[in-house]
Amino acid sequence: RSGYCAATRTFRSKRADVPLPADADLDVVRFLASRRHAGVVALVDAATGHRVTFQELWRAVEGAATALAAPPLSLRKGQVALILSPNSVHFPVAALAAMSLGAVLTTANPLNTPAEIAKQVADARPVVAFTTRDLLPKLPRAGAGAGIRVVLLEPDRLPSDPSPVVATIGEISATPPDPTRRRDRVTQDDPATLLYSSGTTGPSKGVVATHRSLISMVQIIMSRFRLEASNRTETFLCTVPMFHVYGLVAFATGLLGCGATIVVLSKYELPEMLRAINEYGVTYLPLVPPILVAMLAHPNRLPLGGLRKVLSGGAPLSKELIEGFKEKYPQVEILQGYGLTESTAIGASTDSAEESSRYGTAGLLSPSTEAKIVDPETGEALPVNRTGELWIRGPYVMKGYFKNAEATQSTLTPDGWLKTGDLCYIDEDGYLFVVDRLKELIKYKGYQVPPAELEALLLTHPEIEDVAVIPFPDREVGQFPMAYVVRKKGSNLSEREVMEFVAKQVAPYKKVRKVAFVAEIPKNASGKILRKDLIKLATSKSKL
Ligand code: AMP
Repeated sequence: RSGYCAATRTFRSKRADVPLPADADLDVVRFLASRRHAGVVALVDAATGHRVTFQELWRAVEGAATALAAPPLSLRKGQVALILSPNSVHFPVAALAAMSLGAVLTTANPLNTPAEIAKQVADARPVVAFTTRDLLPKLPRAGAGAGIRVVLLEPDRLPSDPSPVVATIGEISATPPDPTRRRDRVTQDDPATLLYSSGTTGPSKGVVATHRSLISMVQIIMSRFRLEASNRTETFLCTVPMFHVYGLVAFATGLLGCGATIVVLSKYELPEMLRAINEYGVTYLPLVPPILVAMLAHPNRLPLGGLRKVLSGGAPLSKELIEGFKEKYPQVEILQGYGLTESTAIGASTDSAEESSRYGTAGLLSPSTEAKIVDPETGEALPVNRTGELWIRGPYVMKGYFKNAEATQSTLTPDGWLKTGDLCYIDEDGYLFVVDRLKELIKYKGYQVPPAELEALLLTHPEIEDVAVIPFPDREVGQFPMAYVVRKKGSNLSEREVMEFVAKQVAPYKKVRKVAFVAEIPKNASGKILRKDLIKLATSKSKL
């Protein structure tokens, strides 16, 4: 019943495997485009009501790919294309067109500072960037940013657009397809995306996922929703960011494979979300837990129209939250998904009300997935109901970290297991429960905040001797960064000054929101910060 095999000490998914296409020469875009979904609306701009059918979408992707491959954009297989943009109906067009050429797609959070974006650009070295007029000033123009060819994700060109702008998405997607254009051979093994994640430790790193990773994840999402079999079109609202694996895989590949209609919100705001749900007949709402918290905390019962399912992912969902939500909105089913950037999205999920009724579970392992629960101290694989680090193996697991063999080796085993850094157990019926996070990562409203980045920044302060940044639990946002600081001798640095020092240099979601001064940072014999001790200290103090 649990899928556990004592001989191999592994758990196997109880769901039927998904079929993996045998053709080696297949990219995710060709795979998706082969499913035509004729007559169905693929994308709707929530703000303007502008609709794009599947037929128009594939024509736009082919046009954009034709223009991208030709001078002056000249995007080639293996080169990197960056998208720096809020959600928009143009985002999937740019993403799919770039990937169809065999180019590797990287995405950046529009909230990031120019310095944070410059760091990613220096690492990923994009040659083409898709961005908006508002965000263009955030793109570096010197160093690795010099020479990047810019495509604006706007329909029209303005005479005032500055020089790195080569074209707009409106222009390139209207390019007549050229059947004679030279096409590079793109295989399932070629890299498709380079999304940034800090993994179990250290700063953000590029996560290389292949076309095979994406194709298998599309298959998993299709088998999760089985929309084609249901014979009705479901409408999903896109509130989660498309730059994150959750939004990118759901809204730029997976749900397009399902033939779903996607209503795109450029930015999450509760009133806008409610308006879109009602105006466009939204039936499925993927979100992160803080949005559920806001819906529950609202004094009124919010009008949710014909909404039938809420899909929560990216961070844990508490039992109280699920129970409270079910009581307030009994007509809406909550489904959960668990995954990480390194697993190209979903490693486990609940697919029905019955599966979700096991409170606290992140669900059954995804199809074609194996798992191990490994004792972090001894490295021994553990049986049913025992807690340890979750390792997963499946066709969607990343190839490795970009230009970082050391991080790859400590995260992926030679036989393909991904060490998730999450402390979990699997029960006697095969349900996964996420108990805690072993890794350093802080998740603020579902956004990744790598403590190592904040620690490195704080150590540049002339009055700071040593520092450790930990997650501080918060009902509304999940967690926020808290800094334990050792001041240099004679320093009178205040908590406020520490917070302001960080706030000036990072994206708003990375701000340190609590500071405590200590005489020293607890570390083990090899100098590793004992974060769990600090978390215990911080949370026990807050309860007093
Ligand atoms: P990211 O790579 O940004 O998607 O972050 C992945 C991490 O988010 C996972 O390793 C977990 O720590 C956390 N996470 C994602 N989904 C869930 C979930 N359903 N329950 C608990 N934690 C989750």
